[in-house]
Amino acid sequence: MQYQAPKGLLFVKVGEEPYTRKNGTETTLAVWHAPCAREGCVSPVVIKTPLTNYQTSKSFLSKHCDNHKLTKAEVNARRVAARKLVHSTGNTKLSDQDVADIRASKLSAEGLSLIYPVCVRQLKEILSGRRR
Ligand SMILES: [Zn+2]
Repeated sequence: MQYQAPKGLLFVKVGEEPYTRKNGTETTLAVWHAPCAREGCVSPVVIKTPLTNYQTSKSFLSKHCDNHKLTKAEVNARRVAARKLVHSTGNTKLSDQDVADIRASKLSAEGLSLIYPVCVRQLKEILSGRRR
């Protein structure tokens, strides 16, 4: 059995194992493997989910094996790097519809910056009509 995680990896069910819940009741978990997203890594990503309704398990968001799981600091560093990239490329990520929505919105530039991938300065320029 396979499960293609939305925006994630293709997981293959490799087995089942007994599991005791925190409240002491017994259940069975499905064990899934997927290839680690780190290039060249041969270790599988191993996750466990309930046997039924497993599709809703957040474990399917995993993309790396235990060796390559990103730490919180790494995740933050990537987020900062992505944001810098957006700044350096201007507001090319906004469609005309985005710009129209921004101008029609009642939010401040600061509030809009949480929604759109551009910086506050650019949003202010859009709101004031100085930019597309
Ligand atoms: Zn790995």
